[in-house]
Amino acid sequence: MKEKFRNFMTGRYGVDAFSRFLLATALIFWALNIFIESRILHSWAWLLVLYTYYRMFSRNITKRYQENVKYMQIKNKLLAKFHMNNSQTKQPKTHHVYKCPVCKQKIRIPKGKGRICITCPKCKNEFTKIS
Ligand SMILES: [Zn+2]
Repeated sequence: MKEKFRNFMTGRYGVDAFSRFLLATALIFWALNIFIESRILHSWAWLLVLYTYYRMFSRNITKRYQENVKYMQIKNKLLAKFHMNNSQTKQPKTHHVYKCPVCKQKIRIPKGKGRICITCPKCKNEFTKIS
């Protein structure tokens, strides 16, 4: 039986990262379907599974490989974007943002400097804060 399967799989594409992603998405759809019970979600899950199997048993290895490369590129781009957003939200942790009491100008001050005198760059008003 194992031998038969191996013979069957020779020259076929097999599983790659894109297939795993498709299957994972199908599983998520199924899980969601338990709560939502949507017919569309259900058929989408099946379509994804069918497409995954079609890719696994496909003999057009070059084309499947290119699909996987495209998937990886999109994934990496999204990950890079996600990391960039993360570093932007991390920024306020090293800095305090104060508002000038006079003109409401936002001023970024590094944390951990103790009591400091801040001069507003806009209206030159001076005020003290603990950073
Ligand atoms: Zn000001």
